[in-house]
This record gives sequence, C-alpha cells and structure tokens, in this order.
Amino acid sequence: MSAVALADIEAVRRRIAGRIEATPTVTSPSLSEITSFPVHLKLEHRQTAGSFKLRGATNAVAQLSAEEKRRGVIAASTGNHGRALAHAARLEGVRAVVCMSRLVPGNKVAAIGRLGADIRIVGSSQDDAQEEVDRLVAAEGLVMVPPFDHAGVIAGQGTIGLEIVEAVPGARTVLVQLSGGGLAAGVAAAVKGLSPATRVIGVSMERGAAMKASLDAGRPVPVEELPTLADSLGGGIGLANRFTFDMCRSLLDGVVLVTEAEIAAAITHAYRQEREVVEGAGAVGIAAILAGKVRPDGETVVLVSGRNIDMDLHRSIVCGTWREEGPAA
Ligand SMILES: *Cc1c(COP(=O)(O)O)cnc(C)c1O
Repeated sequence: MSAVALADIEAVRRRIAGRIEATPTVTSPSLSEITSFPVHLKLEHRQTAGSFKLRGATNAVAQLSAEEKRRGVIAASTGNHGRALAHAARLEGVRAVVCMSRLVPGNKVAAIGRLGADIRIVGSSQDDAQEEVDRLVAAEGLVMVPPFDHAGVIAGQGTIGLEIVEAVPGARTVLVQLSGGGLAAGVAAAVKGLSPATRVIGVSMERGAAMKASLDAGRPVPVEELPTLADSLGGGIGLANRFTFDMCRSLLDGVVLVTEAEIAAAITHAYRQEREVVEGAGAVGIAAILAGKVRPDGETVVLVSGRNIDMDLHRSIVCGTWREEGPAA
C-alpha cells in the first residue's frame, strides 16, 4: 500500500479544483508520425505559474491550520516549487520564504520575488538551500512545504494522472519527468490506480539523475548536482527520503536518461513543431521519444511539465547557436 493512493488523489482534486487549471491534452502530429503510434502531449507547462508545481503547493497550503497560516511557509526549491508556493501562499495571505542555490536561473528567482516571497540564495546545491530552510524553521517557526517528499504535494501532482487517463483512457505508456519523484509518484499512483496495465516511465537528465542512481543502488544516494538545461530536475532525493523513493520503486516501469543535446533538440522540436515554449525539464519526455530511448508500442502520453525557461537561453537553443560547452553547460 503506497503512501498516497488513488482515493487521496481524487480527494485532493476536489480540494484544489477552481484554484488550478485542468490543462489540455493534445495529439502531436509530428511525434505520432515519427513513432507510428498516437502520441499525445499533456500541456501542463501552461499551468498557472508555469509548471505543475502549483497543484501540490496549492494542496499543501489548503491543508494548513489557521495557526500554521499565521506562521508562514518555507521551502527549498530549484525555482518552480518556490514560484508555485509563493503564488498559492499569496492567494491565502500567507507569508512565504523560498531558499534557493546559486544554480537556480535568474528568471525564476525574479518571478518568485515579484510574487512577494522572501528569497534566500545560499550555496550551490539543493542540500545547501535545505540547510537554510532547516535553520529558519527552527529560528522563526515557519512551516516547511517540501518540493516533493510530502504526501499532500505528491497527491496534488497526482491529479495530473487523473486528467491523463480521462483524456486518453487507452494509454499504453505515460512518460513523466523524474527528479525528486513527487510528480512521478503521484502521476503513477493515479494512472495505475485507474488503469493498471498502463506503463509509467520516468525521464531524467544524464547530468545528476538522483532518483535513477538511488533506484539502482536500492536506497537513496547522494548525487553531485551539475548545471543542466533541465535545471528543474536538479538536486538529490534526500537521504532520509520518506515517500517518493518507495513509491517510484514500486510504481515506475522504468527510467530513461537523456543528454543535454537531446534536451536542446526537444526544446527546439516543441517550439518549431508544436509551437510551445518549454523549459528543459519540461522537454525531457519529448527528448526520450525523439532520441528513440522510449519506443511507443501503443497510444502514448508525454507530460510537458514546465515553461519557465530564460527566454534568451530559449532563443539561442531554437536558433541553433546554443552549444553544450557554452555558458549553459
Ligand atoms: C519540479 C519539476 C519536475 C520534477 O518534479 P519532481 O517531483 O521533483 O520529480 C519536472 N519538471 C518541472 C518543470 C519541475 O518544475
């Protein structure tokens, strides 16, 4: 029995309805042609605040007691969780503090500031940012809302899985981004709860795939955090991981890794073929299909998880001037 089950996700869906967008699922003619099977894109990058993270953050804030709301919330983030939490907290009049490392792109930091959150930039890894969170929780009594290893956050992200199965009931395979695993665990719990035969495959970048390394080792292991186009997928899974490691181990049917060049090609494909602006993390599922690392054998759903890319970086990628050894590598 996993920590978050289908019934939990269905309850969360009712709780957050009206505060998040139910995003569209569309068929991709180009990817369907390449693979010879219908490939659908779940356009979750169009979510308010630019990523799916609003689902989990909205649920976590909705679950706070009045006393906890007075204390305020705090999180470590690679950017998108902080932005989502700042957005959800602001709607409730709750103070939010977001701790990030120097690796978080400036456009993400700026957007969080515009939402009125307090920002702390500390160190060069998610672990460094988390240490600052722990310090402030102790010093100021703020309530921590973790980016992935939290049952309410996992269930919030899982609501995407309900929408996927409703849109494509016959899906044979679902591709989902994999970093800390809140998204993959939630989506897999929902999808397999409704459609047990559907395969759910996690996709990470080669540069610092912490959950993949942990699944291979059979326990959470530390992984060096490296700069990557998929910056939202950076960071470890937490050596004291409570929920997502076990859920990913029992629910995922496989994990594939994509290179920086494959991510760049997928960002370009999303832009030129699908007319969508997608950040690196958001594009890894498309990358796995284009690179032939996942070969569809039936209807396939590819989750597009975020769009919060620096637009100058995006332009250099889609114009073909971005180079892996350049400033972004
Ligand atoms: C956070 C994030 C992910 C990964 O989610 P996890 O729950 O940490 O696995 C994927 N894509 C985007 C755009 C994100 O912001």
